[in-house]
Amino acid sequence: NTQTDDFVIDDEIILNIFKIRQDFAHKGTYGKSIIVGGSYGKIGAVVLATKSALKTGSGLTFALAPNCGYEILQTSAPEAMFIKGGEKFINQIEEVENAVYGIGPGLGTEKETVKALLEFIENHQSPLILDADALNIISKDKSYLKLIPKRSIITPHPKEFERLFGKTENSFERLDLAKTKAKELGIYIVLKDHHTQVVTPEGAVFYNVTGNSGLAKGGSGDILTGIITSLLAQRYSEEKAAIFGVWLHGKAADFAAEKHSKEAMQPTDVINELGNVFLYLN
Ligand code: AMP
Ligand code: MG
Repeated sequence: NTQTDDFVIDDEIILNIFKIRQDFAHKGTYGKSIIVGGSYGKIGAVVLATKSALKTGSGLTFALAPNCGYEILQTSAPEAMFIKGGEKFINQIEEVENAVYGIGPGLGTEKETVKALLEFIENHQSPLILDADALNIISKDKSYLKLIPKRSIITPHPKEFERLFGKTENSFERLDLAKTKAKELGIYIVLKDHHTQVVTPEGAVFYNVTGNSGLAKGGSGDILTGIITSLLAQRYSEEKAAIFGVWLHGKAADFAAEKHSKEAMQPTDVINELGNVFLYLN
């Protein structure tokens, strides 16, 4: 691999990406986000991702989850609409016109869920955000990787990356492999780590330097999925949604750590700091 463009995501890059909300906007202006995930005992993951999509500014937000999550979601995120995708786990993913899908939080890997996911991604045309169990399902067979729509954004943590693409010796090798795979598949790979890297299909790498170890807790990744889905729904390009998304997530985590400590801060506190991050940008 030849050395390509490497960038650190700084405030200047972000201020160039960030679009001020239009005065004459209506809810249609800011797109439809659909968070797909959840299974019995893992509805919280969808709650976190859905709340994050709402807080990032998506015009209409849906949670597509199994029916066991219906009351939980309608109560904890009343602004979001519910779409039923099964009873205790997802066995069907509905296509909604012009919606951006973020799939994976708490999804589980039941046989019927696998079937529903593969059928959906195979027939879906526009870019998707794929995370967590959506990536674990795709890892089950190398031929599934080719089903991912072009310009989709995948957000693996190191273990999920390894399941998808195989073992590497160190983080340099891992980044090289990510560049190769991003080009080969024509997708964006968000390599989540202490310093998350956004790898583009052109082979450029954007390093994120916001965020802290207070994020090393279950639920942190679900928030990132919701944020990036919401930005893509709001018509940021895939590249901008991925870069802006990882920065927002980390910045909100830094604000949460200042207020609550890295130890005590919870993913929910990170979601609740998103407003302060937008105030910082405005
Ligand atoms: P997940 O493992 O899917 O829940 O994702 C964890 C999220 O938290 C990713 O966005 C990571 O980049 C972030 N994260 C986890 N640990 C750290 C850390 N020590 N420093 C900075 N960010 C972290
Ligand atoms: Mg995760």
